[in-house]
Amino acid sequence: MTVGRKLSFALVAAVFAVLAVSSWVRVHREVARFDADARRHHRVLGTTLGAAVEQLIEEEGEQAAATLVHHIDASRSGISIRWVSLSPGVPRHRLPKLPRAQLAPVARGEIVQLTQPRRDSDGEDYEDERLVSYFPIRGPSSGLGAIELVESLTPKSVYTGEAIRSTLLASLSVAVVCGLLAVLLGAYYVGRPVTRLVHKARQIGQGQFESPLELERRDELGMLASELNAMASQLAASRRAMEDQTEARLAALEQLRHAERLTTVGKLASAVAHEIGTPINVVAGHANLIVRRRVEGDEALSSAQVIVEQCARMTKLVRNLLDYARRRPPNRVCVNLHDILNETTQLLAPLAASREVALEVQGELQALASVDPAQLQQALANLVINAIQASPQKSTVRLTLELVTVARPDRDHSRERPTWRIGVADHGSGIPSEDLGRLFDPFFTTKPSGEGTGLGLSITRTIVEEHGGWVSVDSTVGRGARFELYLTPLRESCPSTSSS
Ligand code: ADP
Repeated sequence: MTVGRKLSFALVAAVFAVLAVSSWVRVHREVARFDADARRHHRVLGTTLGAAVEQLIEEEGEQAAATLVHHIDASRSGISIRWVSLSPGVPRHRLPKLPRAQLAPVARGEIVQLTQPRRDSDGEDYEDERLVSYFPIRGPSSGLGAIELVESLTPKSVYTGEAIRSTLLASLSVAVVCGLLAVLLGAYYVGRPVTRLVHKARQIGQGQFESPLELERRDELGMLASELNAMASQLAASRRAMEDQTEARLAALEQLRHAERLTTVGKLASAVAHEIGTPINVVAGHANLIVRRRVEGDEALSSAQVIVEQCARMTKLVRNLLDYARRRPPNRVCVNLHDILNETTQLLAPLAASREVALEVQGELQALASVDPAQLQQALANLVINAIQASPQKSTVRLTLELVTVARPDRDHSRERPTWRIGVADHGSGIPSEDLGRLFDPFFTTKPSGEGTGLGLSITRTIVEEHGGWVSVDSTVGRGARFELYLTPLRESCPSTSSS
């Protein structure tokens, strides 16, 4: 319920209560006055009649007095007038309506006035309450007597009922009029401005700070409106400042990226110069020997062999650089990861054998995922080659494949979900903790010149991230290293499972 309505209801209730109480007091007072008037009227009539009766008894006898009483009774409607006797042994029609016990004061010459309830002590029912008055008179023969006046109080009840009804009606009408007025004024002075204030607050909440609210009032609501306007302009200013800062930050970031790109190009150039410089010199030297016929026969053959080896080294380097520089988006198909693990180990079996290292594949036989098989094989091969190179003779490089439930470590509030985990573990030299942080940086290598380019792990991570996965590494120096690739599994089975 709105504040305006609550106030209106409270006002109506208060007005109605005040009117009802004041009306009740007024009705009560008027009823009391009505009572007093009736009693006074009885007293005037009773005492006058009593005096007249006493005088008539003295002058003309009781019969004349009785006739007077009878005449007066007949002439007054609504009031019954009788001459009753309070002496014992009188006929029934002269007995008073009230029991003698209540009329003791009359015997002492006092006036008795009583309101008789609808049902009197004798159990007799009347239509309404009655006012009964007794005025003592003394006659010579009839002893102690009294003029009895009995008047029905029906007019009083009728008056009371009507007064209550009319005051109730008047109170209700005033309350309704007040209520209507309060609702209308409340809607105009409170409801309308509050609705506009709420609308403005909503606009601020939605980030619309323009168009200030014009209430043009000098009350609390007007103050609230100007505070809201002030708040909106402050928020607008902060937003502008924030946008400027964000723009500046983005520009700085772009500059940083540019600088990074330049650094990478520089590193690339120096790596190429360094890596290709030596083999080119070797190739040029041996080619010169052959061209100038300084070597012939078997010697020329071994020089040619050296040239072939050095060319192969340069080709590998160039391929790695191209892989790094010109990455193409993965061409995904549905594959069984177990097949890719097997193919990679088969591919690298000669290298492992040459170093007397065993390769082993364990884990799920059916592990479906949507990946680019060639890229994933390349990513995996980089890890296995590193593991073989780091492993001592007669040790084993183990490839594992399991379904685990994990949350992405690189995103906040990421939910845990089933994920394929490919592990490549060796028992080699391990990686010092200070190197762990930059292992995946391009051109980071600890291998002697000519053996490592520092691009393998960087390429592996890029490939896995392009597949929506992530890479982690764990190592203890002297005990070996374990690299893990995480990839999203396929929920349904492949339409036709591809092996590569
Ligand atoms: P590269 O093999 O050409 O050096 P990588 O990016 O593949 O480039 O590897 C970067 C470095 O990470 C390696 O030089 C080596 O120091 C370290 N590394 C990678 N794998 C292993 C491993 N299994 N055991 C020990 N060190 C490793």
